[in-house]
Amino acid sequence: MKETHIIKVGDLFLGGDWPVSIQTMWKDALPRFSSSGDAQLLDILEKLSSLKKLGCDIIRFAVPEISTAESLGMLAGLSPLPIVADIHFDWRIALRCMDFPIAKIRINPGNIGAEWKVREVVAKAKDKGIPIRIGINAGSLPRDLAMEQDVVSAAIKAAEREIELLESMSFNDIVVSLKMNQPDEVVRANEEFSLRYPYPLHLGVTEAGPLVAGIVRNTAALVPLLKKGIGATIRVSLSDTMEQEVIAGKEILACVGKGKHGIRIVSCPRCGRASFDTHAFVSRWMNRLYSLNADISIAVMGCIVNGPGEARQAALGITGAGNSVLIFKHGEIIRRVEKEQADIAFEEELESLLKDEINSN
Ligand code: SF4
Repeated sequence: MKETHIIKVGDLFLGGDWPVSIQTMWKDALPRFSSSGDAQLLDILEKLSSLKKLGCDIIRFAVPEISTAESLGMLAGLSPLPIVADIHFDWRIALRCMDFPIAKIRINPGNIGAEWKVREVVAKAKDKGIPIRIGINAGSLPRDLAMEQDVVSAAIKAAEREIELLESMSFNDIVVSLKMNQPDEVVRANEEFSLRYPYPLHLGVTEAGPLVAGIVRNTAALVPLLKKGIGATIRVSLSDTMEQEVIAGKEILACVGKGKHGIRIVSCPRCGRASFDTHAFVSRWMNRLYSLNADISIAVMGCIVNGPGEARQAALGITGAGNSVLIFKHGEIIRRVEKEQADIAFEEELESLLKDEINSN
């Protein structure tokens, strides 16, 4: 594996020994904003702030029209996260986006068209100091490569062709992604690429599917690569929310020891012994817990039989006990409340735990 270049994306760095960053992609069309005080713009900024708190490092927006580029431009000047403009087909949209303080641009060589168009995009990116991600996708390879039997080799050829073009203009501010639907193909493509090129890789499985299938396929592809030190940034694409994509990304990084600080949720699957709905509690608390900036385990258990005992390692836990719930710290029961009071009591104990953590650091 070659040592990678380091690429600056907004206030982040990709490659080298920098931490692997987590990305997601905005799931809706961007509306036109009337002004910087537009209510829809403010809503999006608030959502971006909560995604950042959750652990998202970079956000990408599809820019299918010039008018969207104007909206993206307004956002880019205010966003708490580095913004990536995702461009397909029309190089003029890429040019317009770069009039604004975007952090990176993603182009798909399979559909931008004539070389001179790509050259115009590269010249402007160079002038503005904006990195380019060459985003190769098995589903939209350049026409002459799309018929090749081996999709991995076709994707690498597409990347090579584009890299040659960018390098011929002395442009090296490059990130590459090689996305396929099959995890083993993603692994092979990224391994082969990383042996030959020094450019940081953005990892992901394309069209990975709904929540469970998508997480399984992404984990199967990303874990072996990340373990080998391949991958500077990841996106777990899911037919689900951006929050789930970010949480899945955090969990995958944690599995390979590259996670940032953060909460670890231990929760039981629930069974006939449960007197407390762990599923509902976890889904109510998930985003809040994953947004906490603390290295602690939280346990959510359905019954007293296995609750505090099995979750002894947890800094804080909650478990069902008949009509009550018990709250425990480091395996010791500290409080019993009615089930209806579970959320309030848990919040109070969580706040107190976090204060203790801050004081002890
Ligand atoms: S903790 Fe209790 S409710 Fe949860 S799975 Fe174990 S035995 Fe069942």
